[in-house]
Amino acid sequence: MNILIGSSEVQPYSKTGGLADMVAALGKYLGIAGARVGVVTPLYRGLLEEYDDIRRTGRVVDVVLGERHEKGAIYECEPSANLAIYFVEHVHFFQRRGIYGEHSADYADNAERFLFLSKVLLNLPQHLPWRPDIVHVHDWPVAIFPALLRHEFGKGTYPSPPRTLCTIHNLAYQGLFPATQLPLTNLPLDYFTPTGLEYYGKMNFLKAGIAYADHVSTVSPSYAEEILTAEFGCGLEGILGERRDQLTGILNGVDYAEWNTTDNPHLESAYTADRISGKTREKKRLQRDLGLSVDAKTPLFGIISRLVEQKGIALLAEALQQSLRHPMQFVLLGSGNPDLKVMIQEVARRFPDQVRVKIGYDPGLAHRIEAACDFYLMPSRFEPCGLNQLYSLRYGTIPVVHAAGGLRDSVADESEGADEATGIKFTEFTSAAVLEAIYRALSIFKKPELLHAYQKRGMARDFSWERTAEAYLDFYRRILGGDGADSVWYFRWGLFLVGN
Ligand code: ADP
Repeated sequence: MNILIGSSEVQPYSKTGGLADMVAALGKYLGIAGARVGVVTPLYRGLLEEYDDIRRTGRVVDVVLGERHEKGAIYECEPSANLAIYFVEHVHFFQRRGIYGEHSADYADNAERFLFLSKVLLNLPQHLPWRPDIVHVHDWPVAIFPALLRHEFGKGTYPSPPRTLCTIHNLAYQGLFPATQLPLTNLPLDYFTPTGLEYYGKMNFLKAGIAYADHVSTVSPSYAEEILTAEFGCGLEGILGERRDQLTGILNGVDYAEWNTTDNPHLESAYTADRISGKTREKKRLQRDLGLSVDAKTPLFGIISRLVEQKGIALLAEALQQSLRHPMQFVLLGSGNPDLKVMIQEVARRFPDQVRVKIGYDPGLAHRIEAACDFYLMPSRFEPCGLNQLYSLRYGTIPVVHAAGGLRDSVADESEGADEATGIKFTEFTSAAVLEAIYRALSIFKKPELLHAYQKRGMARDFSWERTAEAYLDFYRRILGGDGADSVWYFRWGLFLVGN
């Protein structure tokens, strides 16, 4: 099966959040499973300097943006079996400091930048030696692709365009732009309707993906249900309800080649569930390096997160003001909203011996925090999948989570069976509930055998991408309406069809 993936972020080349991890692992493990995979993504600033294996292909894709033509030179690298990453170069659009913006402000031309990327995704296949069976687009930046494809080929005019899947990683980010930018899409007005990409007079890229993709998916089964409600639907619950029969949730996996405790360049001490002493060494190393008192017997809580309302940082800060009166330590690594930053720094100011706040983005420190902590806090109001609770489970770090979305699906609470419990889940989204959950964690910490039982069960859970990639392959086969063999259809992009 041939799969073309479009994404604005791909780890390790670009990342603001879980989208980057997911797309990178999806591509890699689909390739390992035998599919042919291409990932289309921007050539952001600095990539050519950092990665020697990214090379110029000589291919140039020309796209029409309104009245203009814009060209994207294609660069390529092949980081693993059957996987090609196609980087699109456009100096003006992508050689910038940020991916979506700078200094907490979005770039004013984001509609244009990501329409350009989506149109490259549309035109690139005519330059490739292979044709995609499925085009899988991720999140708002490329979600308009299914509408562009539909327009390109006309409704039913041509026998077999590729099938499309639009995956929603976070419904809160929709790509909403003024209708005045509609001409950049070159779509006729028929697409600008309440059942299409129009949203209260604006243009909504994610809504276009939901409306026009053959299938829509999210990154956990629970989130797929939650987004059908007004509470979590972010205004799109109506159109999602209409696509309910084509809406699926597949829980993300973990790339254990990167996120593991036995062969990890960021950790000095390897450990497993049966030889857990390395974890204690990592805890002491982090305590020492952060200037906290070095003591294995003090419970250490951590969080690595974008500082945004969704992540429940305000509730956490409130709960910590109470719980830090007890012997415990807390470390946060994150960046984002200045108000939340002030709020969490205030906690650090009040409890200077127990709290460390690191503002910034630091993947190495993220691994070390995962390894060092006893408990990982994730009080997100909603969480499409969440990755850190999955990493925590593998790192023997007990997740303390709000029962939402992927957190609900991946962490087992004692109330679901004492012999199955891998973490602590709370249901109310209140600071009192967060506090109570922290107290539950503190009481588990007091019983080393119980603590180790949680760790052992969590570390044994398998969220490997091998399994997730198989789930996607099955899903693609279903979308293709058969076994997904390459012979399902043949077509020459732009030169329509040489039949089968
Ligand atoms: P989201 O995509 O909503 O940010 P996820 O849990 O799905 O949340 O993914 C977050 C990813 O980003 C994880 O891999 C996490 O470790 C990483 N991350 C978030 N903030 C930072 C940071 N400040 N430094 C390093 N990694 C971070």
